Amino acid sequence: MLTNKRILLIISGGIAAFKAIDLVRLLKKQGASVKVILTKSACEFVTPLTISTLSGEAALTELFDLTREAEIGHIELSRDADLLVVAPATANLMAKMAHGLADDLASTTLLATDKPVLVAPAMNVRMWEHLATQRNLEYLKADGVHFVGPNHGLMACNEEGPGRLSEPDEILAAINNLLEAPSSAKISKPLAGRHVVITAGPTHEPIDPVRYIANRSSGKQGYAIARAARQAGAQVTLVSGPVGLADPEGVNVVRVETAQEMHEAVTKALPADIAIMAAAVADWKVANQGKEKIKKNADGRLPALEFEENPDIARFVGTHPAQRPMLVVGFAAETTNLEAHAKAKLVKKGVDWIVANDVSPETGIMGGNRNEVRIIEAHGIESWPDLPKEEVAEKLVERMAERLTSMEQV
Ligand code: C5P
Repeated sequence: MLTNKRILLIISGGIAAFKAIDLVRLLKKQGASVKVILTKSACEFVTPLTISTLSGEAALTELFDLTREAEIGHIELSRDADLLVVAPATANLMAKMAHGLADDLASTTLLATDKPVLVAPAMNVRMWEHLATQRNLEYLKADGVHFVGPNHGLMACNEEGPGRLSEPDEILAAINNLLEAPSSAKISKPLAGRHVVITAGPTHEPIDPVRYIANRSSGKQGYAIARAARQAGAQVTLVSGPVGLADPEGVNVVRVETAQEMHEAVTKALPADIAIMAAAVADWKVANQGKEKIKKNADGRLPALEFEENPDIARFVGTHPAQRPMLVVGFAAETTNLEAHAKAKLVKKGVDWIVANDVSPETGIMGGNRNEVRIIEAHGIESWPDLPKEEVAEKLVERMAERLTSMEQV
């Protein structure tokens, strides 16, 4: 919660500016007070009226607004906040921040502030990848500016890659992380000195060079666990299938496509103290993959696909003769008979815990931001309430750290 926290949100121009409306709504819902500055070009995408209606305060747009200068002035504005959030941040505004330019209310306020700044970039892929933007990003990081995103994915301009604005709930999670009173996990770093290997996301199993078999896993839960483990002081290797999420800060991310590649990356990442297998790995791959795009037969049908079993990465890690981590955690996403299936997996895969969740479409868990899990161990089951995936991750990390400590005391 952000009760009584003061957020100064700066919205710069770009098609993603519409997402800032949702961010204002979420911030207000968490009890924050929100002042908003819109750059001139932001006003082309969202209106000051919409923003002021939602935030309950006049949206600020002009540097030389005399009444406001008389009332508080931009210096005070920049100081009268707990956090400045720039969402979306265009390449232009990032460049101005990196070089200390101050030619409008947004950039002047950013230059005048002594408060923490969180930036959520959004721009075309080429603009994001341009050396100038990457240079500015490094300058800003060196100045202590915090970043969330950008995400990978399809952009409004129809190009694909990094550059999409993070979702409002991801920006909200980053704000909470920066502002909330540090939890005991964050202060004491209970996983310091530990290596944690995490798998996340789906796998893509090619049919031919243009087609593949996939599933609806978003990777959000695995990425949240990677962030939480990092915050708890661990060295984290995140082996990720294809997802549209940004690399978590300070985490070694290995991107793979197929189950076979995930298996190889996990093998390379061992040894580890903890392994968390959160990926939705395809159980089967296509054995008769086409080297060229497969054509229809003369009768108009595609030839039948043949399947071959993929390596079971969780079982490989859970039963490793030489490098089994002290704690191995598997996931079980089921739509029926959740507990019975999860218990069977515990034994079959040699894992210590199964985090089981019901992924029937009506739960909205797959791809969503919340999760309701049961933790299944050989001798008991614990049911957790419906929680944001970030909180599930923090609770899991806390539980893992406790378990590791108790194992070492035995
Ligand atoms: O057997 P099932 O796919 O339901 O098991 C789920 C658990 O096993 C998850 O932890 C998943 O990451 C892991 N798994 C794996 N390799 C596979 C299949 C599943 O690591 N080939």
